[in-house]
Amino acid sequence: MDNITASELAGFGVGALLLCATIAAPKVDAFISASQRSSLGMCKRCGNLRMIACSRCKGVGLIKEGGVFGLNLIDDFYESVGGSDSKVRSISCTNCNARGHFSCPDCSKTSV
Ligand SMILES: [Zn+2]
Ligand SMILES: [Zn+2]
Repeated sequence: MDNITASELAGFGVGALLLCATIAAPKVDAFISASQRSSLGMCKRCGNLRMIACSRCKGVGLIKEGGVFGLNLIDDFYESVGGSDSKVRSISCTNCNARGHFSCPDCSKTSV
């Protein structure tokens, strides 16, 4: 596993944090009553993060080869296109367009 760079590790950490926050949000939210929530203007979906971590890439935006099932075909495609960079093969997450998160649909609905 010595082919994992520090930046990738950091990215994973951020992704994990995002995911944790997304998972924790509803639980934290359960302690806040609906009236409080509305008065505070908090989003009940994302807890005011305004984003939801991508469940497919764990918020990293990239998928490592072998990390996700059934991506061998796509990976081969990217390898043939990318060419030289085959040491750590990671592909952009197609679920979130490599952003690692989505904007919260609830927050985007109620435009501030
Ligand atoms: Zn993703
Ligand atoms: Zn939201």
